[in-house]
Amino acid sequence: MAKAKAAKKPKETADPIPTRSGRVAIVGRPNVGKSTLLNAALELPLAIVSPTPQTTRESLLGVVHRGAVEIALLDTPGLHRAETELGRRMNRTARDVALSADVVVFVTDVPTEATIRGRAKPGQELKPNRMLTPHMGDRTLLEDIGKDAPVVLVVNKLDRLRDKRLVLPLLEALGKLRDFAAIVPISALRTDGIERVLDEVGKLCPEGPHRYGEDDITDKPTRFFASEYVREQVLLATHEEVPHATAVVVDDFIEPSEGGTTRITATIHVERPGQKRILVGSAGEMMKRIGTKARQRIEALWGHKVHLELWVRVTPRWRERADQLDELGYGTSRGEGNQGS
Ligand code: GDP
Ligand code: MG
Repeated sequence: MAKAKAAKKPKETADPIPTRSGRVAIVGRPNVGKSTLLNAALELPLAIVSPTPQTTRESLLGVVHRGAVEIALLDTPGLHRAETELGRRMNRTARDVALSADVVVFVTDVPTEATIRGRAKPGQELKPNRMLTPHMGDRTLLEDIGKDAPVVLVVNKLDRLRDKRLVLPLLEALGKLRDFAAIVPISALRTDGIERVLDEVGKLCPEGPHRYGEDDITDKPTRFFASEYVREQVLLATHEEVPHATAVVVDDFIEPSEGGTTRITATIHVERPGQKRILVGSAGEMMKRIGTKARQRIEALWGHKVHLELWVRVTPRWRERADQLDELGYGTSRGEGNQGS
């Protein structure tokens, strides 16, 4: 292959641009699009995304390099009113990440236009300033994340509004809740506004050496993603309690010496026999579909062949039991995140 002509060396006298590196927490209520934002910033569907709230259970690092600036984005579980020990651990993870970050990206979303219009009485003129107000949960969460780090407010799902002007009073009202470094309306789903978010965040990252290699994307091992991608398919294939009651553990992960097929065995834990019946379904159809889609997703991201074997087991009340949570990889009761390896 022909080599490109070597670029002219910059003059020795030119001042080098100082490198910058920042830990950037992505926090907010469940389901506002935090993981979608991480994926859009990485231009890679690394994090799992689903319409079910509380899809993300652990923090997930995604590194974005933009010239001299290294942005270590940390996706977090959505802060919510926890009803289980798992939920309490998820909230603790999100708060800890936010409190130790150099910059916080606080994500909120706009409701659908139908929801906004539904708030108007029949025949009543649509007054955006009354229909689109900050979410009560956001007010509380913004107090929770501390005052130390600068906060970039991201208002997501703008694609939901045909009339974009509807968002303006909301932006104004949100702006009064706190002193934000910037307020950026985006659509993470359509990757609109992502560059602007990264620009704003990049400006706030402190000077310092880069912590990761140019090609580093994350710090979690492949087996973590194998279990996540199986769980993602369970979330997409089931409803109601099953998604919340599901945990996936990789039991065996055998990489061939060179090339060849990686053999993965994983167990899907659910809490009740009825949930197991739903998953196994008639003739194991649902399990086959979940297995095929998860395998394809792992293969697409890691570029090598995978053989995936799945088992389903009933582990009663695992979301409540500290010993089970530790075993399933959801941190310790002291809130130290298990890296899922
Ligand atoms: P998280 O819980 O905050 O991480 O939210 P997710 O990234 O998992 O997204 C939750 C749901 O919102 C998924 O169904 C996404 O497809 C959807 N979503 C995320 N971003 C957007 C967006 O910009 N527009 C719309 N319409 N939906 C979005
Ligand atoms: Mg998420």
